[in-house]
Amino acid sequence: MELTVKTFAQTELIDITATVQAAVSKEGLQDGLCMVFIPHTTAAVTINEAADPGVAADLLMVLNQMVPWEAPYRHAEGNSPAHVKATLVGTSELIPVSGSRLVLGTWQGIFFCEFDGPRTRKVIVKQF
Ligand code: ZN
Repeated sequence: MELTVKTFAQTELIDITATVQAAVSKEGLQDGLCMVFIPHTTAAVTINEAADPGVAADLLMVLNQMVPWEAPYRHAEGNSPAHVKATLVGTSELIPVSGSRLVLGTWQGIFFCEFDGPRTRKVIVKQF
């Protein structure tokens, strides 16, 4: 299943847990695995605390500090920091599914990570 995510800032973490859960429920998988895959080179996916929005803000702050926008990058498109951050964070997550529910820890949420927005992005949800 392909989901659409709209982003609104150059760098942004968006909680997509409910959207992914809705996709799992719709496809009716009882038990197995759910893979969330990002088919982009300047976006990523991660799982981390969703209860306090400060955590996502801190992750973003540190990533932006680690990978400065200005540096002697060679990539002509001018968005190398976005490519670097996408590789650091990763393009997929694998989540257990039990009783048609994502098995996530109490504080865990799935975050779409935008590093070169704002854009309209795709998220692939594949179940096994
Ligand atoms: Zn590029």
